[in-house]
Amino acid sequence: MKKAWWAGALMLAASASSGALTPWQKIDHPVAGAPQAIGGFANGCIVGANPLPLQSATYQVMRADKRRYFGHPDLLAFIDRLGQETSQRGMGQLLIGDMAMPAGGRFSSGHASHQSGLDVDIWLQLPKQRWTQQQLLKPQPVDLVAVNGRNVIARLWQPEIGELIKLAAKDKDVTRIFVNAAIKQQLCDTAGADREWLRKVRPWFAHRAHMHVRLRCPADSASCEDQTPPPAGDGCGAELASWFQPPPPGSKPTRPSTPPPLPAGCQVLLDTHFNGG
Ligand SMILES: [Zn+2]
Repeated sequence: MKKAWWAGALMLAASASSGALTPWQKIDHPVAGAPQAIGGFANGCIVGANPLPLQSATYQVMRADKRRYFGHPDLLAFIDRLGQETSQRGMGQLLIGDMAMPAGGRFSSGHASHQSGLDVDIWLQLPKQRWTQQQLLKPQPVDLVAVNGRNVIARLWQPEIGELIKLAAKDKDVTRIFVNAAIKQQLCDTAGADREWLRKVRPWFAHRAHMHVRLRCPADSASCEDQTPPPAGDGCGAELASWFQPPPPGSKPTRPSTPPPLPAGCQVLLDTHFNGG
């Protein structure tokens, strides 16, 4: 699973091409049925997704007009747990970004994952008060990473942000959290002796103002595909250092590739929705 950052950068370039709406973006309600995440995080869908309640004392939902606040009940339960924990500690409220569309599936641009209702973006800010409707509809991210890409901006970094990522990583259902390599470096430098949770925190591109949290496949989802666990250890050594190396000479972006075939369960879902058969 070791991946040099430049290899991923090429993949990212390949997946960034946008186009017409995908069929998934035309489905505006969850598919009826018992909740079930189908397929992989980057090639999947979800039956029986639940909307995250938009009113909460412990979190705030951003860009609700985009209707990307659907997920498996396990994802909603995780957000609730994390919100309770941060509230109890007086750390402030969670800012919830994209989850999944009502039936999950592929976006035309932006995310490659967030397809099976088990991923959520949580911003690395913890407001003590509610944002206005206008702020929530057009939220302003705070870029925590310095221009050099190697470290966080000390003036903007709050210990509570590190605490938030740690709380999420310690959750029983969380398998991976993606943050910018500079943010992972900050966590590595300040973690002290309690380091097991760092294994789940994975360096990735962008993610300079939010963390992307991914859950394990739920027990009720027989055709959900889990990823292999991250390598053992805290991931603070050579692997993290590789993210700060320049790309090898001669590496070229790969061509945009056609998406892999849909999992059978997702194809059936699309056929039923659009053809009634
Ligand atoms: Zn994400």
